[in-house]
Amino acid sequence: MRIILLGPPGAGKGTQAERLVKKYNLPHISTGDIFRAAIKAGTELGKQAKEYMDRGELVPDDLVVSIVKARLTEPDTAGGYLLDGFPRTKAQAEALDASLQELNTPLTGVINIDVAQEELLERLTGRRVCRGCGATYHIKFNPSTVRSVCDKCGGELYQRDDDTIETVKQRLEVYHRQTEPLIAYYQQQGILHSVDGAQEIDEVFQEIVQFLDKFVNS
Ligand code: ADP
Ligand code: AMP
Repeated sequence: MRIILLGPPGAGKGTQAERLVKKYNLPHISTGDIFRAAIKAGTELGKQAKEYMDRGELVPDDLVVSIVKARLTEPDTAGGYLLDGFPRTKAQAEALDASLQELNTPLTGVINIDVAQEELLERLTGRRVCRGCGATYHIKFNPSTVRSVCDKCGGELYQRDDDTIETVKQRLEVYHRQTEPLIAYYQQQGILHSVDGAQEIDEVFQEIVQFLDKFVNS
């Protein structure tokens, strides 16, 4: 299965991806995670990406596209993958289409996680992420058992630098301007499947699974 998770920041893409890649045994390709790892490692890519991420802007298309293209030629993607946070612009979506056409590996489906704007601000400012394993929590909606400690690996939970109110507002605006048009883009291709992301985490998961189970072995 070659799947894209689409949706605004805070929709629950990472939360669902964590569960879906386990169930379907797919590599999880999150461009946000790739950039955060590069920042942590102090690489040139990390330095370039950080400038944009700190402002709540998108990293330039050419940089993102070249990274994803390279990632999609790695052997672990031969049986499929889950893209999370990519594509985010029409230019990225077109570059991905061209690349997949060359590889003769069409997308299986695009899952759009739909959540109202009012909910997103609270989700993002209350998000906490594990420094160790990357698991995602929420101080109110999905808290860890012990405050600031990851249930899965015991790692420390932290708040992302870009999850402050000001940056979140900017990211939501960037989403509306640059990413939301991709809903129509994939609808036109006939591969979009929207799910109601306002439900409980497990309910959203079940809805996605119901859709994806049709494609197991494809
Ligand atoms: P994204 O990857 O789309 O930016 P996340 O998966 O990181 O979003 O989720 C954003 C925040 O919202 C996290 O703190 C997460 O725990 C919480 N969250 C995710 N899904 C739900 C849900 N269905 N209901 C309530 N909170 C959720
Ligand atoms: P995320 O982890 O998906 O919330 O992404 C965090 C930040 O990384 C975004 O606000 C962007 O600055 C950058 N980023 C992640 N994915 C992309 C992408 N596909 N295109 C451009 N910028 C991206």
